[in-house]
Amino acid sequence: METKILRESGYEEALVGLSLSFNQDPAGMPAVAQRLAFKGDGHNKFLESIVAWMDVRAPRYFWQQLDTYRVGVSKQSESTMHTMTRSRLTQKHFEHPLPDDLLRHLNELITADDWKSVKSVLPESFLQRRILCINYMALQRMIRQRSSHRLPEWSQFIAETLSAVAYPELLDPDYEKEPSR
Ligand SMILES: Cc1cc2nc3c(=O)[nH]c(=O)nc-3n(C[C@H](O)[C@H](O)[C@H](O)COP(=O)(O)OP(=O)(O)OC[C@H]3O[C@@H](n4cnc5c(N)ncnc54)[C@H](O)[C@@H]3O)c2cc1C
Repeated sequence: METKILRESGYEEALVGLSLSFNQDPAGMPAVAQRLAFKGDGHNKFLESIVAWMDVRAPRYFWQQLDTYRVGVSKQSESTMHTMTRSRLTQKHFEHPLPDDLLRHLNELITADDWKSVKSVLPESFLQRRILCINYMALQRMIRQRSSHRLPEWSQFIAETLSAVAYPELLDPDYEKEPSR
């Protein structure tokens, strides 16, 4: 599994918006933003204006859980239907090693161009790449709800996200800022 940030946008604009409530100079807003980021109940609406584009390669059992988030997140994914029979599968295509018999069977189906059967027996550990367009409100919610989740992929997703985003302190109240930031 791998999580990368492609681009982020909207921080300055979100803070200009936030400054309107207080009629303050936007230059003074980072401290206000930090104070409101975890207050919830409408006080942190500015987080919806900060958007990240992420490139995530994750097993399909992880995507099943991420797909339960319905607000503030949009995904574009690799199509298994269109690409599944283009090349043979190897262990690198899966989060966990597959039994050799199963891998052989899948490759026989791929050779026969039988994509329907490939899809019906494809294990959930198959790694699928998706581009997420997600705002900070949705990311913060995921981190809050899944930081102690039993599925280790959540811890990995959260750690990689926090180490790569521009403003991790707005996503996790316990995030320690590194001196170089
Ligand atoms: C440990 C754990 C176990 C879970 N197990 C299961 C499970 O077994 N089965 C299962 O189905 N889900 C399960 N979930 C998923 C959970 O029910 C949520 O769907 C998921 O965590 C997304 O959270 P959310 O609804 O807060 O976020 P979002 O879906 O992003 O919603 C954001 C906010 O908008 C609100 N909202 C969204 N849609 C509407 C709407 N139509 N009307 C009004 N308000 C709306 C939400 O209440 C929330 O406040 C589990 C979650 C966790 C953390």
